[in-house]
Amino acid sequence: STQEKTPQICVGGSGPAGFYTAQHLLKHPQAHVDIYEKQPVPFGLVRFGVAPDHPEVKNVINTFTQTAHSGRCAFWGNVEVGRDVTVPELREAYHAVVLSYGAEDHRALEIPGEELPGVCSARAFVGWYNGLPENQELEPDLSCDTAVILGQGNVALDVARILLTPPEHLERTDITKAALGVLRQSRVKTVWLVGRRGPLQVAFTIKELREMIQLPGARPILDPVDFLGLQDKIKEVPRPRKRLTELLLRTATEKPGPEEAARQASASRAWGLRFFRSPQQVLPSPDGRRAAGVRLAVTRLEGVDEATRAVPTGDMEDLPCGLVLSSIGYKSRPVDPSVPFDSKLGVIPNVEGRVMDVPGLYCSGWVKRGPTGVIATTMTDSFLTGQMLLQDLKAGLLPSGPRPGYAAIQALLSSRGVRPVSFSDWEKLDAEEVVRGQGTGKPREKLVDPQEMLRLLGH
Ligand code: FAD
Repeated sequence: STQEKTPQICVGGSGPAGFYTAQHLLKHPQAHVDIYEKQPVPFGLVRFGVAPDHPEVKNVINTFTQTAHSGRCAFWGNVEVGRDVTVPELREAYHAVVLSYGAEDHRALEIPGEELPGVCSARAFVGWYNGLPENQELEPDLSCDTAVILGQGNVALDVARILLTPPEHLERTDITKAALGVLRQSRVKTVWLVGRRGPLQVAFTIKELREMIQLPGARPILDPVDFLGLQDKIKEVPRPRKRLTELLLRTATEKPGPEEAARQASASRAWGLRFFRSPQQVLPSPDGRRAAGVRLAVTRLEGVDEATRAVPTGDMEDLPCGLVLSSIGYKSRPVDPSVPFDSKLGVIPNVEGRVMDVPGLYCSGWVKRGPTGVIATTMTDSFLTGQMLLQDLKAGLLPSGPRPGYAAIQALLSSRGVRPVSFSDWEKLDAEEVVRGQGTGKPREKLVDPQEMLRLLGH
């Protein structure tokens, strides 16, 4: 049948999940894959999440670019699924549709004072320094000396590191010019990372921790009391967790050598981990106009292993600060009323990437498994979704007969006044960014205004 000859498939979202799913689908010798993306530019969190001082992580862009260069793959940016085109319209135009639109929201703290100026999500802060258009107006106030990050995962560490890195070390990264300017004026000297549970439950990984411990001009503050009795417990934990905890333990309890002691003594900035503390309220300043601290409930652990829970002891503690960043997780949103959505778990309900009860609809990445895991995890998961789809295709479970694919969607978009951005358009923007970075030693100066991007493309 024609379907067997040219399966028309589309993917919604161009982060790692979108690109890795497309890469796998293109193994089918005739499949054609269109990738729709709401931003005018591709790559999702690789561009807008991964820290600017971790350029090596962004090398996956080379693989994604190769995929986009396939004659059977097309990228259509500036097209928002659920708004510019609906999922039923896509399902009508294609043999199969994959949703891989990530996690566009953050989990709220749900405590009083959360709405005060001086409080923002780590997600917005990351978007701000990475040039995400919707966060360019953030204007974080870094005139205070203490910042508190609620959360102890890798995103929390990224944010702490960016706040404390000497600005001259960020000059040759792709951090935005505006963010670098604000960081240069920053008076933040101390950053606390607060967690409800203890050292054995931190969610960050060893590489990121080591980087933090070695951060130029900054010293760690860890309370040895938090680590009492840990030496015995770590014998039983799995190896990666064991190595991580050993590093924490050494840093907290061992006397540094003379060189490290001198380095720490001359450090003008500091960061610390506050364990067993659960945020109850953001405290307002005396005039009530902004955040001035966080009230924390002291906790202790109950239960063992995965089931370990933090329960309040009844004691409270106030931690003064001028900036509160909540880093307790990203969250996916439903994008189309026709697509099942589990709002409790924040995922599209699926079995190995097949969306429950909707034949021909698939999902991959963070919207499939929830907002955890690195790019490599997202890759494995996306290949698996691609595999399921190709299996279904082979088994004749997808609609038979030809499908128009992009031709039909293009007509719809054009009738709605939407002008998609192609991959070669992106390559023009890419080249422009690289040119703007030259002279300052930056790999690129990101364009942050979608209107300007479209203007540069003559749209
Ligand atoms: P995303 O990367 O979020 O991609 C989703 C894409 O869909 C986006 O481009 C978005 O614009 C688009 N989209 C959203 N809604 C729509 C819509 N309605 N229509 C069309 N398109 C839409 N992993 C590492 O391995 N190393 C790191 O150093 C690292 N750093 C990270 C730092 C941060 C701050 C964060 C949050 C994550 C980091 N990760 C890192 C994890 C990694 O980014 C994720 O595993 C991965 O990006 C998830 O891929 P995804 O495609 O599911 O989501």
